[in-house]
Amino acid sequence: MVERFEVALNTPAGRLTTAIEVPTGFIPITAIVPVTRRLGEEAAQLEVQQAITAGRTISCQMGCAACCRMLVPLSVPEAFALREYVEQLPTDRRTLLLNRLSDTKDRLERAGLWDRLNDVAETSRPVPDEELDPINRSYYALRIPCPYLENEMCSIYEARPAACRELLVTSPAELCQDMVQNPVTPLPVSMRIGSILGLVWGALTSSPPRLIPLPMALEWAERHEQESRRTWPGSSLLDQILDNMWRFLSQAFTNRRGARGKGQEVPSQNKQNKREKKCKSPSSSV
Ligand code: SF4
Repeated sequence: MVERFEVALNTPAGRLTTAIEVPTGFIPITAIVPVTRRLGEEAAQLEVQQAITAGRTISCQMGCAACCRMLVPLSVPEAFALREYVEQLPTDRRTLLLNRLSDTKDRLERAGLWDRLNDVAETSRPVPDEELDPINRSYYALRIPCPYLENEMCSIYEARPAACRELLVTSPAELCQDMVQNPVTPLPVSMRIGSILGLVWGALTSSPPRLIPLPMALEWAERHEQESRRTWPGSSLLDQILDNMWRFLSQAFTNRRGARGKGQEVPSQNKQNKREKKCKSPSSSV
């Protein structure tokens, strides 16, 4: 059985209305990841439309994977979801990916970065930006292609992390060859889905939000497999996801209002954001 909800979110780029279904029973955190990412993608699509209306062009295109040399952070729910995804792949695909992950681990160990990344993934304290920045820069300096990249295309496209989905730029694509030195202009992101999933997980398990570097996400998820088996009522997970989305949107409205100057109003108020339960309908679980 699933419960169907009509979700309405006012974002700085326009109003997002969509229907989502959540199982009525107890579900693991991974079951809420796809719908959370979908809401994030629909919000991002509003940003794209707004940018196009304003005469800007989205430079990101299939076959351009310059940003797939950056270190991608995952929330805990996403790491568990990625492991589930890889485990259900055909054996030859899975073996190929695992070999590539192993090669990446070797390169990172030789560069002295693997243990530093592992510390970030396992620490029980929030890691400040001042600590993360040098690690991110050292990783990017190596220009290691993401282990999931094949022929400059993402081989896990439907399962790729939220951070990958959220990076869209309006600056010329060639600037992305060096995202540290060049003035790259990303589209605004009003809801950081990885952060939202991380905050929900932290609240559910009384743990600090973690950042798990993509190259070690499968290993990390395997080590923490017991935690991935915990379940919660589906509607309760959705409530927590939406609460955090509203907080992010509220902050995004405030930030953009500040950026536009105090005299100019942002066109909609996120206080109107709401979730409406529509109906229950029999269906398979997520
Ligand atoms: S997961 Fe896919 S989109 Fe993300 S960095 Fe890797 S190849 Fe690129």
